[in-house]
Amino acid sequence: MDGSSEKTTNRMVTILPNYKIGKTLGYGSFAKVKLALHVATGHKVAIKILNRAKIKNMGIEIKVQREIKILRLLMHPHIIRQYEVIETPDDIYVVMEYVKSGELFDYIIEKGRLQEDEARHLFQQIISGVEYCHRNMIVHRDLKPENMLLDSKCNIKIVDFGLSNVMHDGHFLKTSCGSPNYAAPEVISGKPYSGPEVDIWSCGVILYALLCGTLPFDDENIPTLFDKIKKGMYTLPDHLSYVARDLIPRMLMVDPLMRISITEIRQHPWFNNHLPLYLYIPPLDTIEETKKIDEEIIQKVVNIGFDRNQVVESLVNRIQNEATVAYHLILDNRNQNCVPKDPFQSNFKEISGGIFNSTFPVQNITSHVGHSFSALYGLKSHVKDDKTWTLGLQSQGSPHDIMNEIFKALQNLKVCWKKIGLYNIKCRRVQRRVRSLANYTNHTIEDECAIIKFELQLYKVREGKYLLDIQRIDGPQFIFFDLCVAFLRDLGVV
Ligand code: AMP
Repeated sequence: MDGSSEKTTNRMVTILPNYKIGKTLGYGSFAKVKLALHVATGHKVAIKILNRAKIKNMGIEIKVQREIKILRLLMHPHIIRQYEVIETPDDIYVVMEYVKSGELFDYIIEKGRLQEDEARHLFQQIISGVEYCHRNMIVHRDLKPENMLLDSKCNIKIVDFGLSNVMHDGHFLKTSCGSPNYAAPEVISGKPYSGPEVDIWSCGVILYALLCGTLPFDDENIPTLFDKIKKGMYTLPDHLSYVARDLIPRMLMVDPLMRISITEIRQHPWFNNHLPLYLYIPPLDTIEETKKIDEEIIQKVVNIGFDRNQVVESLVNRIQNEATVAYHLILDNRNQNCVPKDPFQSNFKEISGGIFNSTFPVQNITSHVGHSFSALYGLKSHVKDDKTWTLGLQSQGSPHDIMNEIFKALQNLKVCWKKIGLYNIKCRRVQRRVRSLANYTNHTIEDECAIIKFELQLYKVREGKYLLDIQRIDGPQFIFFDLCVAFLRDLGVV
């Protein structure tokens, strides 16, 4: 450890007693990033240290404050999580999710162009993260492979929200920002833009880089580079598949009004191929996300020594304290452990449950038992208040027949249930996961158990139309999603 590093670590020990400080992970243009261990939970984090004097000299206080404020709001599997911010008169310490494998930029440099399946897997995650930002009225404005970190399972984490901005309806943004190679024509021309379309352009450049290993627009001479971007001058190599050749130009459309939207990207056949179910459904917005409190995680936080009421109250009121930091660290680490290790081979699928606020295509699929169930990924609810959207299944069969089918499916899936009402049941399933420990011991097999609790309610939407709502109550989210998929399969919906 050099002198300055030792000094930093010693200082951090007193300021951050909840963390054990480790090695330096990297240096940014105005920050140092250290690895640390959150003592109470044993989970690793990355701590970004920002020196106040340095950021003042560089005139980037607003950029730093903006990044902190925006990241505090965001909770998405493909956006870096910020757990807490500790401020002293000299420094700002930002505690973030630790991401192990480095930048997407280095990955592309090392591997060259990626196979379409691998590129798609990364691109689907990027689009889902960007869509989530836009839904929360945030436009990133500096999307590039240098701002995408890869975790140990090769999953994307979008970082660096320093240039991002909050969108307001009817207002246009003007600031020209971002890296020139990824900047949209309207941005470099200094034209006003509403926001999402500039991120879509940058995603188009990233998609090109993933599939081709080079940039679509590049030139040492900046005016020439800008000229190429403004004219949309690039070539599509022959090795690209027909569908990829269709998607890239739609994203790199010079006229922002003609550019493809995220909703349209989601419907594009190149994007849709092998789309994991957890990305199939647009994510909850942050307000809905924070309303969900996981009982299993609360119990773990209580076991560490925190008071249950205090944890719940702090979570509900979005207060940052030791208990909520522990809660989010345990929650994120559990959810990450449920993501498939090899996304190309795994048949692990996820589906979201609950209420969210977006439109999504409705699929009508005839069930194998005669009457039609529709999987409604975003049905406008007639049951709750008018502004909410509900995930559910719609059916035209008689409520009695529907309930019988549900019971049969639950029985097949070894789900236990308790009737709360005629059309309302509480369900419980013990999920066994067999984990091979071949790498550690001599082919030992270890069983892991997870208990998933959920509730089913059949609503009458209107005469002859019923809606089945599925809500998770407790248990690992990803395993619940898996169970939902199996349930839908059993009902003949998917
Ligand atoms: P930045 O100041 O955000 O550009 O970060 C500087 C360097 O620190 C990056 O290039 C990464 O190598 C490393 N780094 C930043 N954030 C993280 C993180 N959350 N997990 C692991 N390494 C990180």
